[in-house]
Amino acid sequence: MSHHLPQTFLHSLQGTPGFDEAEFIKAHEDAKQVTSIRFNPRKPTTANGHLSIQSIVPWCAEGRYLSERPSFTLDPVFHGGAYYVQEASSMFIDHILKTIYNEKSMPQRVLDLCAAPGGKSTLLSSALPDSFIVCNEVIKTRVNILAENIAKWGNENVVITNNDPKDFQRLPGYFDLLLIDAPCSGSGLFRKDNEAITEWSEANVNLCSLRQQRITAETIGSLKQNGYFIYSTCSYSMQEDESICNWMAEKYKLESVKIPFDPSLGIVETVSEQGCYGYRFYPSKVEGEGFFVACFRQPNPVDKHYGYQTTLTSISKKDQLLAETFIKNLENYILTGHKEIIIASPKKWEEEIATIAKTLNLRRSGVAVGEVKGKDFIPHHELALSHLSGDAVPVVVVDKENALNYLRRQDMTVEISQKGWIICKYEDINLGWMKVLPNRVNNYYPLNWRILKR
Ligand code: SAM
Repeated sequence: MSHHLPQTFLHSLQGTPGFDEAEFIKAHEDAKQVTSIRFNPRKPTTANGHLSIQSIVPWCAEGRYLSERPSFTLDPVFHGGAYYVQEASSMFIDHILKTIYNEKSMPQRVLDLCAAPGGKSTLLSSALPDSFIVCNEVIKTRVNILAENIAKWGNENVVITNNDPKDFQRLPGYFDLLLIDAPCSGSGLFRKDNEAITEWSEANVNLCSLRQQRITAETIGSLKQNGYFIYSTCSYSMQEDESICNWMAEKYKLESVKIPFDPSLGIVETVSEQGCYGYRFYPSKVEGEGFFVACFRQPNPVDKHYGYQTTLTSISKKDQLLAETFIKNLENYILTGHKEIIIASPKKWEEEIATIAKTLNLRRSGVAVGEVKGKDFIPHHELALSHLSGDAVPVVVVDKENALNYLRRQDMTVEISQKGWIICKYEDINLGWMKVLPNRVNNYYPLNWRILKR
């Protein structure tokens, strides 16, 4: 008998594929802490020696298990986007992407419908570097954390929207890949989060299941013919997992996609009544938390999307000239204005960004380059975190103490002979801007992001 897990919950899981009550209870009572991170392939760094890396997450080449949980807050390269702290089971999405795509068949347009705080979005942006990725979050207050994590990750193939799933009906047959990492009853995180257990109820599972159906019904039309649909939850309840898959296969005639994997990994493959494959992660069987994922293909023709004209606002020649000196390979970008900020958008996604801006509540696209104030150009923090400036601007590499002082937005003790705008770097990771004046160094780390922890 478990001291932690309610009987009604355990009872509800009887007959669930792969569920073994005794080992499940034991895994929750042992409450082993599994810490995992995923490296940013575009921000390799030698400054990760302090991360007690234990092993590679077997289904994600960039994923690592750590033998100890460090203070991520006090790690400068974490703030520079060198890695993301992500639960290991959910990194299986990387394996699915590698299974369904190859270099010649990458998706062009991707929708991550339930994106905040951005774990799967950063994974998608790295795994699909040549795709245009729309990361959407319906809850307004959660958009900021999503934007912060995307900015830190630094890739420019991402835009952020703040829309209700039903708004995507305005983009029929537009996306090649749809990811719905659905809001759920959250039982998969019980081992990590004891408090969540008290909030579990059968009524909530039913409510979540209905919401998952609604969200899917509202967005599935935005997927093109032959597009892929990945559905995931962190719930063990079949009503939120296999039943949703059955319903989708039946109602939308989606084709289930089988994902091969090494059987020794402990992942449980399930086949639902409608023949849909699903992949279950139990903490008693894998190094990770509870997770469910399934993959489908849309074999049916869908209404086509017809493009819109571009509406990006142009900026003055003077502003353009000021901004240009901060960007490498400028020919690949279009500079436009949004309020006072100059934004650089990849030229190859010009039409896509214009379409999203016209149809949805676009909250962020491209990379914020900076703003012109009088004669001066103030570079934006996002520019330092992105790959746009390359070696176009000077950098100064600081030690860890100064890096943390920088991230706390405090004064630093560094000798810099060069004057003007300089990127503060820790090891090989950019942290942000400093302005070096004749008698002092101004720290431009964003006030809202600064570390408060001592
Ligand atoms: N994909 C995210 C990640 O990997 O970091 C986690 C997503 S979380 C499981 C589910 C998300 O769905 C939350 O950000 C939540 O705000 C959002 N959400 C809640 N209700 C929703 C609704 N009715 N429609 C769409 N999204 C919703």
